Amino acid sequence: MRTPIIAGNWKMFKTLPEAQALAREIVAGTHKGEVEIVLIPPYPFLSSVADLISGSGIELGAQDLHVIAGDNEKLEHFGARTGMVSAPMLKSVGCRYVLVGHSERRQYFGETDHQVGLKVRAALDCGLEPILCLGESLEEREAQQTLSRVATQLQKGLRLVPQNEMTRVVVAYEPVWAIGTGKVATPAMAQEVHAHIRKEIAALYCAMTAQTVRIQYGGSVTPDNAPELLAETDVDGALVGGASLKPESFSGIVAFNER
Ligand code: PEP
Repeated sequence: MRTPIIAGNWKMFKTLPEAQALAREIVAGTHKGEVEIVLIPPYPFLSSVADLISGSGIELGAQDLHVIAGDNEKLEHFGARTGMVSAPMLKSVGCRYVLVGHSERRQYFGETDHQVGLKVRAALDCGLEPILCLGESLEEREAQQTLSRVATQLQKGLRLVPQNEMTRVVVAYEPVWAIGTGKVATPAMAQEVHAHIRKEIAALYCAMTAQTVRIQYGGSVTPDNAPELLAETDVDGALVGGASLKPESFSGIVAFNER
């Protein structure tokens, strides 16, 4: 039995007072039951949001991490990298989760599958649980390359993860064409890709591992479309962007899972 995980990615939105108000309203208005809830604010608000959600059962996540890879991919978590934030720093302010390989990181910051694999390893090394984001572009979907693209991202993202650590990894399937566009995958489309990801995890590790790993769907999830998407067998929750910025819509998505 996989516990659904609903995460709100606040991206580069909100000022500190707005972020505090949002966190307070989510704590007050969200019923926490058999669902894991994660708030993922921008870096400067992590400590403050950590205080506000303390004791509520809601978890904290970060949007990215930085790691320095030396010879033989030896990873360093501290160093002269102005502007960057590393896994132990995130852990020290109360993060449990960290997004890795979000499509906006890949698209705007040139993050490669190789770097994503290193970041997944860095997160695990420092006691964080990575949410490995993957998904196809519109061109890839139209060229019937969705399943192969997602499989490649998965293999490369997990290349440094042994089987015994897979219980600490969450996968988020986020078709790039559905992120922030209002275009949502149909439940059947999502289920097809999620089932394929699970099959690939079984091939990389084993069937039991594949059954335990949670796979979230992300891409224009709202309280209206969440029930159908989250009812699919292999959809274990949602990674929510736009709708996580309004307490009532985020709580509405969580509420579906409580039924
Ligand atoms: C996201 O940022 O991961 C996301 C899915 O955004 P949105 O819900 O706005 O499409």
